[in-house]
Amino acid sequence: MDFQPAERLRKLPPYPFADLRRKKAEARKKGVKVIAIDIGDPDMPTPDPVIDELCRAVRDEGDPNRHRYGCDVPVADFPQAVRDFYQRRWGVALREDQVVTTSGSKDAIAQMGMALLNPGDVGIAPTPGYPTYNIAHVFASAVTYYAPLLRQNGFLVDFDAIPLEVRRQAKILWLNYPNNPTTATADLEFFKRAVEFGRKHDILIAHDSAYSENVYDGYRSPSILQVDGAEDVAVEFFSLSKGFNMTGWRVGAVAGNASAVKALASVKDNVDNGTLRAVQFAAAKALNAADELTPKINAVYQKRRDMVVEALRKNGWSVDKPKATIYIWAPVPERYKGSSGAFAAELFEKTGVSVTPGLVYGQWGEGFYRISLTYSEETLREALDRIMELRA
Ligand SMILES: *Cc1c(COP(=O)(O)O)cnc(C)c1O
Repeated sequence: MDFQPAERLRKLPPYPFADLRRKKAEARKKGVKVIAIDIGDPDMPTPDPVIDELCRAVRDEGDPNRHRYGCDVPVADFPQAVRDFYQRRWGVALREDQVVTTSGSKDAIAQMGMALLNPGDVGIAPTPGYPTYNIAHVFASAVTYYAPLLRQNGFLVDFDAIPLEVRRQAKILWLNYPNNPTTATADLEFFKRAVEFGRKHDILIAHDSAYSENVYDGYRSPSILQVDGAEDVAVEFFSLSKGFNMTGWRVGAVAGNASAVKALASVKDNVDNGTLRAVQFAAAKALNAADELTPKINAVYQKRRDMVVEALRKNGWSVDKPKATIYIWAPVPERYKGSSGAFAAELFEKTGVSVTPGLVYGQWGEGFYRISLTYSEETLREALDRIMELRA
């Protein structure tokens, strides 16, 4: 039997990394030594205190619920740790009904589409951007309007450029700062404008803060919930994945507007069974120890960042030094005339180094490429040495 996939699957763009994965596998088979510096999944291990807490909790015979559904017997420590963290980190006071535990942001983003969108509604997603915002819309039979992030605007969404018709039909607008893939950051003034825009047009501002803790040179990223009245129109998708080296653990939280939090919680009650209690205990531990844990992680990324930026500049290629995220986002060298695909393909063919062409993040990512800092200094060094060969 050959089953036809549902309409919603046929409407999906091809998963951008599938193509890259295939290309790398084929080259490896041919004996090419491939050096990939393209995927954003932290290489460093989860910090020891977090692992210790996981082990303690999963072995705790005094907890009769340790094996049970994480949603039915949730660990109160985790949402409490999220609230304490928001208070300490951003001076934001969250009520209990303003926080829901998630199995990570990717899942929660897709679930938020189901929670809020009706068929034919519009969702606004930035481009270049994380693909899951569009997926959330498509799975809810809604439609995506893409808001371009342009370099001359600091890769910030230009609210004034969103057409009136789109503002009228849109129910949700996604933001993501510090931004993947552009590495751009937003200040509170920008978030204030976002909140005003949401209030004026009745649009939920959904801020994906996946990289809020990956910060350098003393930079501290703001939370949209710091804006006065943000809780009326905004939610923030907080995740431990990137900041605490916990991508596989599947834990995060959505915080902010209580009605949106409630709608998301209602979807979750019906489609997932929550995160293992031991993981929730360990995630609480991570947040409570954030001040000790994240600076150590960031020091490693900062060193890698400096190394990559310096090498690319030495090669005569222009590149900005990001103050947040785990990426370098750079314009493709001039002779490729803005084609990120041509650059990435030639680089791969001649040197075996795989970077991500900006085009995979959407049309407006064209002209740029992304390097991920989630590789050892040794790997990055070798990749850079090979990239130098391309200059000739
Ligand atoms: C990695 C990433 C996520 C996914 O985070 P999880 O919590 O692991 O699902 C979400 N948004 C952006 C922009 C990301 O880069």
